[in-house]
Amino acid sequence: METNKPHAFTLSIDWEDFGQLLGRDRSGVLTAPLPKTIDRQTDIMLEMLNETGKKATFFILGMLAEHRPDLVKKIAAEGHEIGLHGYYHINMRKLDRQQAYDDLYKAKELVTGIIGGPVYGYRAPYFSVDETNLYVLEILAELGLIYDSSIFPLKLKRYGIANFNKEDALYSLPNGKQIVELPLTVAPFRGKDIPIAGGGYIRAFPKFFLNKMFRKLDNDQQNVMLYMHPYEFDTRWIDCSTNYPDKAKYSKAKTFLINLRWNLFRGTIRGKLKSLLKQYEFITCLKKAEYVKSSTHSPTVLGRP
Ligand SMILES: [Zn+2]
Repeated sequence: METNKPHAFTLSIDWEDFGQLLGRDRSGVLTAPLPKTIDRQTDIMLEMLNETGKKATFFILGMLAEHRPDLVKKIAAEGHEIGLHGYYHINMRKLDRQQAYDDLYKAKELVTGIIGGPVYGYRAPYFSVDETNLYVLEILAELGLIYDSSIFPLKLKRYGIANFNKEDALYSLPNGKQIVELPLTVAPFRGKDIPIAGGGYIRAFPKFFLNKMFRKLDNDQQNVMLYMHPYEFDTRWIDCSTNYPDKAKYSKAKTFLINLRWNLFRGTIRGKLKSLLKQYEFITCLKKAEYVKSSTHSPTVLGRP
């Protein structure tokens, strides 16, 4: 165990387009993203990072990058780390090993081609790496990636692995390769762990509560992995019906309810996040992974289930 383990916050962004995803999931039809929305959201994020002098890690979704390579280049040009969020944003537990490989390979080819350089890390859609498909980690290592940040170290309804190591760590895999896992942050609260570091939680929890929880994690020398999505930074009301193929239209009442769900308290996110960016040291996922890799003498063995 290292005694002088550096601890820092990381801001990770799963760079995807809200309307493109929702439309595809609802109708099965893959459309181009609306042009202005993702531009506006990306600019807000870049401006906030620029203003606070911090660097983030952007996990890029292939099906969006395909339409907007210019924006991926813009993010990279500002010195932020570029990682992968897969190509088609499919729950990885629904794919077999070959299909998972194909999705990741396609995403890697596209994104490395756009930025003209390597990528090192991955975040699975819906945090869909659990004890049933740990081979995804082997695929990542086979593709030359050095870290993954997809595992929730807590069993939640839709994802997570109960009792998984909450610390960043290096693992040796059944295929003889290694991978660093940077798990999502959970925080102790009233005797149990709760998720706290995602956009949905940052939106829902009051600022004083978040400040208290993050202060405690920082005092306990915990690494904190914040994970956000572009739409969460938007200054405009999001309308789920704008980017839909016709056959996917909801009724007016349903549209209203969905919109309410996505927009409620969203305006508070930017202020809360900016305050965290100002208060704490932030480093990229890659920096964390490199540190873990170089300081671990004997990696933990992660077997096949
Ligand atoms: Zn996603």
